[in-house]
Amino acid sequence: MSAVSQYVHNIKDTVSTIFEGMAVTASHFMRKPYTVQYPDRMPVRVQDTLPFRYRGILDVDLEICTGCLACERACPIDCIVIVAEKDQQTRQLLLSQFDIDIAKCMYCGLCSEVCPTGSIHHTTEFEGADYSLESLIRRFVQDPVMAYKAKKGPETDPRIAPILNRGMAYLDQWAQPGGEKPPGEEPA
Ligand code: SF4
Ligand code: SF4
Repeated sequence: MSAVSQYVHNIKDTVSTIFEGMAVTASHFMRKPYTVQYPDRMPVRVQDTLPFRYRGILDVDLEICTGCLACERACPIDCIVIVAEKDQQTRQLLLSQFDIDIAKCMYCGLCSEVCPTGSIHHTTEFEGADYSLESLIRRFVQDPVMAYKAKKGPETDPRIAPILNRGMAYLDQWAQPGGEKPPGEEPA
């Protein structure tokens, strides 16, 4: 091949290679994008698409917390700190502290598994970024509250009943085949 034809051949190669590369790039103008503009341009919040038992950031429904401390004992890395003491006058159990250190939590689910009422439960929330470790400690008790005491029969307090129903529905997800809950997971 002469030098001139080699030169022309190289130019042809260069042009066709550029065209091939650009054709792939240009084809993306026609395709549906794979990328997602998270979080502000999602048609539905990701949190709303996650399953009920997704192990996201923990929450506590104090209204149905019996103060049994089972969750605190179950946590293998001491994320949970609960202070529950009997009031000397009323003899009722008072919760004066219920903290969960979200910075330490490994989302193992052991605490929510042992809760008898579904009070402590994972949510579908997973965005926990914050500016300090201190602010990642979730403090659920502001003023001391009376611990929940289960009544015999269905809960009739209209303020508590829907919260307890949610808790029991949460626990039902642990149900064994046939719908039976594992022993020890009935409300206290
Ligand atoms: S999910 Fe696991 S690590 Fe987190 S608080 Fe519960 S038991 Fe502790
Ligand atoms: S009732 Fe549930 S959330 Fe409350 S102390 Fe017992 S295990 Fe923890």
